[in-house]
Amino acid sequence: MIVDSCIDPSSGRAASLDYLKRIGVDAAKQVVAVMATHWHDDHVRGLAQVLKACEGARFFCSSAFRSDEFLTLTQSYVLGAESTTSGVREFGEVLGLLRDRKASGNLQCGPSFVLENRLIESSNRCEIKALSPSSAAIEKAMSSIASLLPEQQRPHLRVAAPTPNEGSVALWLEGRSCAALLSADVERQASDDRGWGAILALAPGSRGRAGIVKVAHHGSESGHDQRVWDELLVQEPQAFLTPWRRGSRGLPTPNDRSRIVHLAPEAIQVGRIGAKPKRYDPTVERVLKEVTQTRRAAVGRLGHTRARCRDADQGMWRVQTIAESVPLADVA
Ligand SMILES: [Zn+2]
Repeated sequence: MIVDSCIDPSSGRAASLDYLKRIGVDAAKQVVAVMATHWHDDHVRGLAQVLKACEGARFFCSSAFRSDEFLTLTQSYVLGAESTTSGVREFGEVLGLLRDRKASGNLQCGPSFVLENRLIESSNRCEIKALSPSSAAIEKAMSSIASLLPEQQRPHLRVAAPTPNEGSVALWLEGRSCAALLSADVERQASDDRGWGAILALAPGSRGRAGIVKVAHHGSESGHDQRVWDELLVQEPQAFLTPWRRGSRGLPTPNDRSRIVHLAPEAIQVGRIGAKPKRYDPTVERVLKEVTQTRRAAVGRLGHTRARCRDADQGMWRVQTIAESVPLADVA
């Protein structure tokens, strides 16, 4: 299964495809599922490329996309609207690919819309289950999607638009002797019928806690819920996170780093983001502001870390840092 996607800037290809090729996995035949946890640009770059290569895979995405508004949004990509983000464009391509597959007789290709407690894959060796979004979260996420539509196509909105993270799909992976939590960009919400509150109510750790966690939302405070660490994870689990930056805002912050290292001393930051964009004199800054939406320094590096656990390993994960991965405790 491939969860989310990113592009390797050195090859221009989806990093997951290059990796599978290196370890001798035939993506066309052996990948059974491709999952988009949500449609933020930093999670879906190259997703259409991935799905194209994984000819036998079924495509899964959040139920929040099952709305007319989302389909209209992807349609606006087809119509060439300039306002569409690259995440929307990527989804437009994915849906086009799935339409073609259906037309040529593959009725199992998806999209399969996921919500909490949905079993994604199950065999005698492992089980993959979606922990979110809850129905309350789906409703919220749909209104956030609607708010992105051009004015005349928008339905009347009753609530302030939340972020698209509301519809994020968190995954629970369980093997014979181990479990892992992939948190996507799930956040703590004001009400426990959404976000981490709703996930905790499912008690996914009841058969055994997870020894591995992909920390939610790039380690941000909004993605942190102490109950997740107390109820779903082993003590001092192996944690991973990817950094994020837009303009002068970056995640994780120094506070986030110390909170996570306190809970998971061996936590690893996978990948490196560029430094803050350079400031120029005010005239140049003004021109740059007029012609760009956001700026970032182009020195981010793709990271790669692998965690494996065999049945015989009794829950002990073997972690191997392959590229641009550093202990979070050492990040300055
Ligand atoms: Zn993200």
